[in-house]
This record gives sequence, C-alpha cells and structure tokens, in this order.
Amino acid sequence: MPESKQAYLHIENLTKHFGGFVAVRQLSLEIFSGEFICFLGPSGCGKTTLLRAIAGLDPQSSGSITQGEKDISNLPPSERDFGIVFQSYALFPNLTVFQNVAYGLENQRLPKAEIRKRVTELLQLVGLPEQTEKYPAQLSGGEQQRVALSRALATSPGLLLLDEPLSALDARVRAALRQEIRALHERLGVTTILVTHDQEEALSMADRIVVMNHGRIEQVGTPEEIYGTPASPFVADFIGVMNFMQGEITSSGTVRIGENSINCETTNIQVGRKVRLTVRPEDILCSADSASDQALRENSFLLQVESVEFLGSFCRLILSGPEGFGKLKADLSTQQVHELKVTQNSRLTAEFPSRNLRIFPESS
Ligand code: ATP
Repeated sequence: MPESKQAYLHIENLTKHFGGFVAVRQLSLEIFSGEFICFLGPSGCGKTTLLRAIAGLDPQSSGSITQGEKDISNLPPSERDFGIVFQSYALFPNLTVFQNVAYGLENQRLPKAEIRKRVTELLQLVGLPEQTEKYPAQLSGGEQQRVALSRALATSPGLLLLDEPLSALDARVRAALRQEIRALHERLGVTTILVTHDQEEALSMADRIVVMNHGRIEQVGTPEEIYGTPASPFVADFIGVMNFMQGEITSSGTVRIGENSINCETTNIQVGRKVRLTVRPEDILCSADSASDQALRENSFLLQVESVEFLGSFCRLILSGPEGFGKLKADLSTQQVHELKVTQNSRLTAEFPSRNLRIFPESS
C-alpha cells in the first residue's frame, strides 16, 4: 500500500467567537511535518486568531487541534509544543540577550554548561554571537527579532509560530530577515507557521499559503498555484495585480465583452451566465499597432495607451480599449516600451492568450 502523507498539525472545524462576532468559522486544515506555511489575508480576516488558537493563547470556541498524534485542543499553552515570535519583539527588557534565550532552557532545569552551549549555538545561528551581554533596548529591531527567534527555537519545539514578526522592521532589514528565516527553516526543518498580510512575504517564503478572508479559507496552495490559478476573485484580487473584465459566456469557451468575443479555455459555466474574466498585467502581450482590425490575430485588440508609469525594472501601461474592457494594466519591459515607441495616446495591439485567462462566475 502506498504510504500516505501524515498531517503533523490537524485543525478540524475550528470556530472562534468573540461575543457575537465570529472571527474564525468552521475552518479545517492539515499541515505536514517540516512545512513552511503562511496564513495570508487582509487585516481582520482571522489569521492571528487562528495562530493564537493553535498556541492555546486564545482557545477556540469549538473544533479540535491535533499536533503529532496528540489532541491539544484543551491544553494550556505551557503544555503545548511550540515556540512563538510576536511582531512586537516581546523580549524580557530586564534580561540580557543570553538570559532571554536561556529562559526556556532554565525552566527545563538543564545543566548550566548545556544551556551555555545551546544559547551560544542559537545566537551563532542567527548571526548574533557577540551580543550576549546586551539588553534588548541596546539592540536594533532586526537584532531583537533574531533574539526572539533564538528564544523561540531554544527548546527545539515541534512547531514554530511567527505572528507578523517582520512587519515592524524597515524594508531592507525585512528582506534580509525573510531570507534568514527561510534558510534557518531549511536547516532545522521545524514545522513553521508565519502570519502575514504581506503577499510578497508569503510568496517568497512559504511552501504553501493559506489565503484567508472573513474567518474562512479561500485557497490553500503553493505560491505558484495561488498566483497562477487563483481559486476565487478574492484571491485573484488580493495576490498580485489583476485586471478584471465583465462579460457573459456565449459558448463553452467564449466570453463576450461588449461587442467583442474572447476565446478562453473551455469552462462548464452555463451559457448566458455573467462572468468576470481576469488577466495579469504581465500576461497581456503587446505588439505594434497593426493598422486594421482585420489583421488582428485571435484574442487581439487595438488599445490606446492612456499612461506609462516607469517602475524601475518594468513599465506599467494603462490601456483603454473597446467597450467593456475598462482600463487595463499591462506590464512591459523598458526595452519593449522603447522598441514599440509607446507613448501616451499611442495605440498598440494587445493579445490576451487563452491560457492566461481565468473566468469567475458573478455571484447571482
Ligand atoms: P491583522 O492583520 O490586522 O492582525 P488578523 O487577520 O490577524 O488581522 P485577527 O487579529 O485574527 O485578524 O482578528 C480577527 C477579527 O476578530 C477582527 O475583526 C478582530 O477585531 C476580532 N478580534 C480579535 N481579537 C479579539 C478580541 N480579543 N475581542 C474581540 N474581537 C477580537
């Protein structure tokens, strides 16, 4: 019999109320051993609530959580097996770096020499071997989060919980720490959950992303799946930049937008149903204006350039087209913009390749 993948953390039907307000609603999720998972979603979607329920800091109203083989649903945090890092550092201000990291180990009453060895090892791992005698107030934000990480990992927990640990840091430190946390994860293999509202953080760090909205899961998938094949208009809109066009299904693989038809991959959405068609800015293929409509290829249209925004490594064009297309964003390399002589009010041909279009039925 083929071996089936076993979940390390199993969340089943978890609901969390705050009075009459439901912050997490009947949520089920499996996380596998050694995975790096990101809970991603807009402010208030319930991601921190879910993380705190896993830690036992704010127990669920109903539902269950199993870690390893053990039902931890009703255990206090002190009896659960996790390390946690918060956004607001949360180091003990009156303890040195060494004492902060050693704290959990001392509670376990390990021999002093063993504690020293482990703390030194951890501080080396996060690049702070020289700072052991400093107090948290004498460290930068990035350094404090490195200490917090060492402290969370000190007792070798089965689960590492990271609650927006990078959001208080400036962009440069954040980018560096992202890579360091990911490298640390690769080295230690500890099952990790990171809560973030920053899609770039989730896309660059996660093995799988759990996209949440209004206390529910919208989609679970690898960064490529979430970006490339969003499961709902919410995910399509929340992750990356997306163009939306409104249309109607006229046959299994065709959507009418205003007076025009666009061929898509076949769909089983009912003919006559109103839909939203999506396409990423980088998936609109632009070429020189081919003077007449007759010369246009399938799914190609003449569009007018409303503006060109230089964004460093690429340019974002705002295009307007036939009725129903609305304003569309298209991304071109700076070189392409020069080659096509794109300027405000110039025209170009934009192709919408079927493979890059997604169709979502409008909710009735
Ligand atoms: P953010 O990114 O802003 O932290 P989040 O997705 O982590 O958002 P949560 O902190 O999980 O959101 O909160 C989910 C919802 O539950 C919010 O509407 C919040 O106001 C509410 N909530 C959270 N904690 C409490 C509480 N202790 N009492 C009442 N409502 C709460």
